[in-house]
Amino acid sequence: MNSDTLIETKNLSVGFPVGGKLFNKRVLKAVNEVSLSIPRGSFFGVVGESGSGKTTFGRALLNAAPITGGTAHYDDGEVNYDLGELAGADLKEYRRRAQLIFQDPYAALSPRMTVRDIIAEPLEVMGLCDTREEVDERVREIAGLCRLNLEHLRRFPHAFSGGQRQRISIARALVSKPRFVVADESVAALDVSIQADILNLLKSLQDEMGLTYLFISHDLSVVAHTCDHVAVMYLGQIMESAPTRQLFNSPRHPYTKALFSAIPSLDPDDRGKAQKLEGEIPSPTNRPSGCQFHTRCPFATDLCRREEPHLETCEAGHAVTCHRWRELQLAD
Ligand code: SF4
Repeated sequence: MNSDTLIETKNLSVGFPVGGKLFNKRVLKAVNEVSLSIPRGSFFGVVGESGSGKTTFGRALLNAAPITGGTAHYDDGEVNYDLGELAGADLKEYRRRAQLIFQDPYAALSPRMTVRDIIAEPLEVMGLCDTREEVDERVREIAGLCRLNLEHLRRFPHAFSGGQRQRISIARALVSKPRFVVADESVAALDVSIQADILNLLKSLQDEMGLTYLFISHDLSVVAHTCDHVAVMYLGQIMESAPTRQLFNSPRHPYTKALFSAIPSLDPDDRGKAQKLEGEIPSPTNRPSGCQFHTRCPFATDLCRREEPHLETCEAGHAVTCHRWRELQLAD
C-alpha cells in the first residue's frame, strides 16, 4: 500500500442475506468487488443514483456494514488495520479515528440534550477524557472551530436553524479528533446558500485537523466544487474514478456522461441536449449479465451483454469499467 494512501480496498464486497430461511435464500450484494485507494488528506467523492451502493460502501469503511469479501486496509501513519478483522481495543480505537457526519441535522440530534452534552457524548462514551473540565475544554475548542457561539452550548437543538444544527453534528463527529470522516449527503437537506457555508467549513476543518473525507453525494455540482477525486458507483461497482477536473472534462463511461447531462444548465443552448437516463437501476439481487449498466446504456453491444468489463486504467489516476471506452467519444 502506498504511503500516501489512507484506505485501500481490494475487491471489497458487502452482502446481506435476503429471502426465506430455507428456500429462496439469496445474497443482496450492495457493494460488489470495489477496488479503490483514498489518499491521505483528500476530499474523495463518491457519486451515484439512489441504490448505487455508495452509502453501504461508506459504512463498510466505518466498520458499520459487514465486509463479506475482499479487503479494506487503513493506515494513517500511526496505526494500520485490516477493517474486516477489527475487534477489541483496535475496533475501539478505529471508532475514534473514523467518524460519520449524518445527512439530516434534524434527526441526528437528540432534542432532549443540550448542545454541550450532544458534542461531549462521544468523549464520554469512548472514555477519552479524565475529568469534566477536560471534556468541557475539548467541547469549547471544537465548537469554536465549527464556528458555534459558546453561548449556544447551553441551548437545545430546536433553537437552531438547519445550518447551525449541521455545525453541531460536525462538532460532535470531530470532537474525538478523527482522521477519516464519511460525510454522507451531509449538505443534501440544506438550502443552497447554507450548503456553501457548510462545505467551506468542512474544507477549513480539513486543513486545520488534517482530515481525509469520503464525501458521498448524488449532487454532481456539489462534488465538482468540493472534491479532488471522484468515483462513480453503479449497482455496487465503480464505473469510473478520476481526479475531479479530469472526470468532468473527459468522462469515459456512458453512465458518468449521463449523470453529467442531468446537471441543470443556465445556458439556453444546452437545454434539450441532456442524455436522458432511461429505466431504473436493477435490483442487486437480480444483476444483469455482462456489464451491469448494459440495460440502460445506449452504446450496449452483444459483448456488453455477455462479458463483464473490469476497471482498467485509461490515464494516470483515471480508471473506467467499460468495454468500449477507447472508441466512444463522450466529451463535449
Ligand atoms: Fe455501455 Fe457496453 Fe460500456 Fe457497459 S461496457 S457501459 S454497456 S458500452
